[in-house]
Amino acid sequence: MAARKKPDPEMLAQARIALMCAYAPYSRFPVAAVIRGANGKLYAGCNVENAAYPQGWCAETSAIAAMIMDGERRIRAVLVMGEGSELVTPCGGCRQRLREFATDSVPIHVCSSKGWRKTFTLGELLPASFGPKNLAPKTKKTRKT
Ligand SMILES: [Zn+2]
Repeated sequence: MAARKKPDPEMLAQARIALMCAYAPYSRFPVAAVIRGANGKLYAGCNVENAAYPQGWCAETSAIAAMIMDGERRIRAVLVMGEGSELVTPCGGCRQRLREFATDSVPIHVCSSKGWRKTFTLGELLPASFGPKNLAPKTKKTRKT
C-alpha cells in the first residue's frame, strides 16, 4: 500500500533543516513539517511561538502556507518531525487544516530527527472528517425552462 511507504530521504532532510528554524523559545519544543504537493514539490514549515501564547502557530500551518503561496492546492504526503519519547503527530487543529487539501489516504509520516517512526493516513488521524465536499453546492437535478 502506497500510503505505508516510509518518507523519502529528501523529505527527511528538509524537515531536519526546518526543525533548526523553529521559533520555540517558550515551549522549547521545536516541530517541523514538510508537505509534498501533488506537483511533487516540497514545502517546509516550522512552529512559530509568540509571547502572547495563543498567537503562535504550528509547523503544519507554516508548511501549508508555503504550499498555497506557490499555487499548489493538493497534498500528496506529509511529514511531521519532533523529538521526545511520544510520537509527535499533528494536533487536532492541524489535522483539520491538512484535511482541507488532502484526502483520507494521504500518508502522515511521524519522525524524529533520527528518522522515521510511524506512518498514519489522514483518515486514521481524522476519521469521518468534515471537508470541502461537505460545503460543495448541490447540483440541481431538474432545470426550469
Ligand atoms: Zn497543530
